Amino acid sequence: MVSKSIEAMQGLSFSQFGLPLKWIGLTTFCGDSASPAQANDVSICRHYGVRMKNIMRQHLLSFAALALSACSLDNQPPELTPSCPVFLFILGVAQDAGKPQIGNPDDPAWADASLRRLSTSIALIDRRGDTPKRWLFEATPDIKEQLHRLNAAAPAERTLDLGGVFLTHAHMGHYAGLMMFGHEAAGAQNIQVFAMPRMNDYLTANGPWDQLLRKHNIFIAIMHDGEAEQLAGDIAVTPFLVPHRQEYSEVAGFRIEGPEKSAIFIPDIDSWEDWDAEGTRIEDKIAEADIALLDATFFANGEIPGRDMSGFPHPLVSHSMDRFEDLPVAEKKKVWFIHMNHTNPLLNPNAPERAQVQKAGFNIAEEGDKICL
Ligand SMILES: [Zn+2]
Ligand SMILES: [Zn+2]
Repeated sequence: MVSKSIEAMQGLSFSQFGLPLKWIGLTTFCGDSASPAQANDVSICRHYGVRMKNIMRQHLLSFAALALSACSLDNQPPELTPSCPVFLFILGVAQDAGKPQIGNPDDPAWADASLRRLSTSIALIDRRGDTPKRWLFEATPDIKEQLHRLNAAAPAERTLDLGGVFLTHAHMGHYAGLMMFGHEAAGAQNIQVFAMPRMNDYLTANGPWDQLLRKHNIFIAIMHDGEAEQLAGDIAVTPFLVPHRQEYSEVAGFRIEGPEKSAIFIPDIDSWEDWDAEGTRIEDKIAEADIALLDATFFANGEIPGRDMSGFPHPLVSHSMDRFEDLPVAEKKKVWFIHMNHTNPLLNPNAPERAQVQKAGFNIAEEGDKICL
């Protein structure tokens, strides 16, 4: 029942909704050349074929051909939401700095927008009730685009209606997007931010973050290791500590429990073996959940030319696959790799490494994926 539901969702993501790669490419392509109003229409073109047709009439034939292939206009507009009422929505899959990364002019993603990826973020969406409830995990530098996508997938009364924003730690890709809630941008009112105790101290004691608190753009709900935050009768989020660089804050992962299933989200960790030494085995965490979104920052040693990466503070995907090799197929199937560095070949749609990972029984998270909970 559980795995059938996951498969159904994967089917929706990749077949009925159209490939996320195409959607993202088209969104960016249209957004680059269209007025803001047009860009808004185009970004939801998968759902409103007729409106898309009107926009396309205004464009050259070559553009129309590209858009047609991505939007499947002759099909009925697909269902906006998955069949399950509570689900995770993948808003970004790249490492903190996104792809392409600053200072890398040779990255083909500068020329080909379909190769661009946003910093890792997921949303938890509960569609029961009159308007969806939405919670964000991580406030990334790409939060503006990510909230736009969230509103297209699960529109609330107001763009900034969020049940809360859960932060894992104080590395720039995971919290710097809070700045967009501030005075110079959204001027948000009392957005709840869930932070661990040291993360709370850091935000409270340092500018510009303390200004967000003083102006009541945000307020902080302090979380504690292993203590569940009950978001609804059957939805809870529980933080747990993981070993990772802790210059400004501790580092958390999350267990997210929905009505049917549960997920763990660990975008950053130094190594599975460091965690072993602290008495926690990742295999046990996977066993206790249905979905495991795991740190896949680097694929293999040699990915960064001229550097020995064996001491890099992230589990290489190649090492994770070796470590999980003897797990039962059903356990491997729970794993979704996420938080990929701009050098990671898993971000390249044509890389043989993608097939290698999928053949070994694991998943690679894509922006636009919806995973039932
Ligand atoms: Zn990170
Ligand atoms: Zn980090």
